[in-house]
Amino acid sequence: MQPDFSLQLDQIFGPRQIFHVMECYTCGYNEYYFQHPKTKKQIGVVCEGCNYICSFEEHME
Ligand SMILES: [Zn+2]
Repeated sequence: MQPDFSLQLDQIFGPRQIFHVMECYTCGYNEYYFQHPKTKKQIGVVCEGCNYICSFEEHME
């Protein structure tokens, strides 16, 4: 993962850990699923190939 992409993720998600990786159906690159390290709540999914970042938190409530 590129440092600048990782930095973006730091700003959006903060502490996180990867709980699932699958191949992106759009670009074939790795798609990462993140969960919060303490609560284990799913917090988002990203693809570096597509520059796609989706935060699940934003869509709650
Ligand atoms: Zn992709």
